[in-house]
Amino acid sequence: MAVLQKNIWMIFYILLMGAFVFLGIISFSKWKNIHEQYATDQANLVKLVSNATHSLFLSQEMTLNILGNQILKDKDPRIMDDLLVLNPSVVAFGFVDLEGNYLHVSSNFNKAKLPNLRQHTATKDSFDYTMTQEKMVLGRTYFIAASGRWGIPIRKSIYNDQGKIVGVMTAGLAIEGAFKIFTENLSFGEYNKVTLIRDRDQFVQFQSSNNETPKNLYEKPFPNHFLNTLLENVVQEHHVSIETIKQNREIYGLEIAHPDGKMVQIALKYDPRYELWVLSEIDHEQIVNEFVESFMSYVLIFVIVHAILFLLFKLISHAEEKRSKDLIFQATHDELTKLPNRSSLQQSIHKWIYEKAPPFSLYYLDMDHFKNINDSFGHEFGDILLVEFAKRISKMVRKESVVIRQGGDEFVILTYRTDEEDILAHSQAILNEISKPYHIKQFSFVVGASIGIAKYPQHGTTLDMLLRASDIAMYEAKKYKNSVRLFAPSMQEGYLNRVNVEQALHTALDKHEFFMVYQPQIDHDGKIYGVEALVRWNSADMGLVPPDQFIPIAEAAGVMPRLGHFILKTTLKEMKTLQAELGIAFQTSINISIKQFMETKFLENLTKQIEHEKLAHISLCLEITESLFIEDIDYILPLLQKVHEMGLHISMDDFGTGYSSLSILRKLPIDELKIDKSFVDTILNDITAKKMIQNIISIGKNLDMYILAEGVETQEQEEILKEFGCDRFQGYLYAKPLAYDALKEFFEKQRKNS
Ligand code: C2E
Ligand code: CA
Ligand code: CA
Repeated sequence: MAVLQKNIWMIFYILLMGAFVFLGIISFSKWKNIHEQYATDQANLVKLVSNATHSLFLSQEMTLNILGNQILKDKDPRIMDDLLVLNPSVVAFGFVDLEGNYLHVSSNFNKAKLPNLRQHTATKDSFDYTMTQEKMVLGRTYFIAASGRWGIPIRKSIYNDQGKIVGVMTAGLAIEGAFKIFTENLSFGEYNKVTLIRDRDQFVQFQSSNNETPKNLYEKPFPNHFLNTLLENVVQEHHVSIETIKQNREIYGLEIAHPDGKMVQIALKYDPRYELWVLSEIDHEQIVNEFVESFMSYVLIFVIVHAILFLLFKLISHAEEKRSKDLIFQATHDELTKLPNRSSLQQSIHKWIYEKAPPFSLYYLDMDHFKNINDSFGHEFGDILLVEFAKRISKMVRKESVVIRQGGDEFVILTYRTDEEDILAHSQAILNEISKPYHIKQFSFVVGASIGIAKYPQHGTTLDMLLRASDIAMYEAKKYKNSVRLFAPSMQEGYLNRVNVEQALHTALDKHEFFMVYQPQIDHDGKIYGVEALVRWNSADMGLVPPDQFIPIAEAAGVMPRLGHFILKTTLKEMKTLQAELGIAFQTSINISIKQFMETKFLENLTKQIEHEKLAHISLCLEITESLFIEDIDYILPLLQKVHEMGLHISMDDFGTGYSSLSILRKLPIDELKIDKSFVDTILNDITAKKMIQNIISIGKNLDMYILAEGVETQEQEEILKEFGCDRFQGYLYAKPLAYDALKEFFEKQRKNS
């Protein structure tokens, strides 16, 4: 059961694991994707900014060059004012001589107030450097006090026709405010900043989005040599030298920790003409945030899908669990009564028997005559009865007890009652309950049951031992019908004896341990008119075993068909021989047990035997006990009629001990009634026995039957029986059952006497 269950969850876990891996893969690729996306965006941004900056500076350089040459030619600085109007990002223009003094300034500035560029520390380096270069050079970004704006100084050497440097044209480019170098916002947003850094001294020339005050930003080099670290990393990661980076104008990407510890993704490009690094930085946090956003949506989908899957699997597993529970129930319960069955008892006995388990009792309950009910009313009827029967038993036990259908009409009850009086009272109460009338279909009837009880641990410490002990006790109870017996060790002897007898019986026939004896039957005049054949067993192990002990066992053990065959064959053969030897004729009575009579091939076999011995002229009588007629009368009656038609006589044995009604008796083709020995025994001193015998005799006479009294031992008994009208006699008074030779002698003696 659990196998499938486990498999289902296994599938679920595999799916879950697969989904986890998938989640991992797509998350990782998303992570990479976002990184790459940002890297490309940044690279494009850097390219854009770099191009824009470059062309901006280039156009300014051209302006400076043209302006410088014009001033040199015209010596008229007013052209500066004209250009200032056209070029709003320029704060002011100026023309400086080689000593650093301003010769001309646009009119918005006071020439006198301006410092000498070669003497001012902030400007000296870049001014001197400018004079060594043909190209335009950028100065440190500084606060242009006269205009109140931050700006980048740009300077360009001006040459005369002979190619000799004659002055420096200079201007201030505003980087903020209404007029600024970049009209567009260069960065993507808060998380991104673009910085232009001068290579020579690593001063920041410009930063697109800055939270820092310009003073902090522009008046010192880029923080903590971050640019150097950055470049070293680029060199390492991209396997290029700084020279190559500077020359090939490519964009390099990288991830690196900022001096303040923040991770950033950067893109970097160098503009060799203006010796400027264009650096874009994106806070890594932004990348992480964007990733987390996607990731969270993946996780959400993942969780939702798996929650649905989980519920689905739970549903399947639930159904599966129920199905396997049903299967287990089916395997461990009886379909008819819904009670646990025998195998369930075996499986669950460990709940009752274990080390230091408390004592309990096991009742073994067997319905009386269930087979008769089944045979007479049909199985459907028997089933209804069993269900009702089981219900009544279950009603009579406490919750902690267990009722099991052990099979057929046998039930087992386990209960923690152990007090002997309590057990007996309880089981008697169960019997009372189940012997109340049952109303099934149009019928109303009663059934009895027998209960055998064994106690744990006294009578057994295993289920098998307890079942055996209770079975033995039940067998004891069966003798009395509708009663209860608690197991006692003494019962075991009988049981063991039964077991021994049964074992010995299986081989007794082959060992020729059986033989027949014959008891003469005397008529009213004292003459022998017949014999009753009685079987004897001289067992090698047990000596002489009385027939009323071994015959029921032989029947139960299935030995009876063979034994019956032997009895009939031997009797017919011996009596035929005897009658031939002595030249006389007499009737031979043979006992037929109920089971023998009910065998399907009984009549067929009997006919065969008789024909085989060619006994047509011998008179044969079948003795059948009265209790036979409790069985299916519709089956028995035609059978008896056939026996009668064959010319056989029928004698009803042990008459008076059963319950056959007169109405049935009238229908039966019976020739002889045998008064049971128990009545004869007490005829002299028991009034009821005497009355009973008188009744039997008058009934028999009325129905034209012979009356035989068996077990006649005294003259007085014979006298009173004769007086009542008895026709035939059998008993020790005349002869004990005799073996062949003794019987022959007995006949010969009789002949002499008469
Ligand atoms: P049953 O058919 O009632 O047999 C008569 C029993 O009474 C015989 O016991 C017989 O020996 C005994 N008996 C006869 N006269 C007297 C007497 O005066 N005093 C006393 N005390 N007993 C007397 P047995 O032979 O032990 O057989 C017992 C029972 O076993 C029989 O009862 C019969 O039911 C069964 N049985 C015996 N032989 C056969 C047989 O060949 N086939 C079948 N099916 N049953 C048999
Ligand atoms: Ca008999
Ligand atoms: Ca008898």
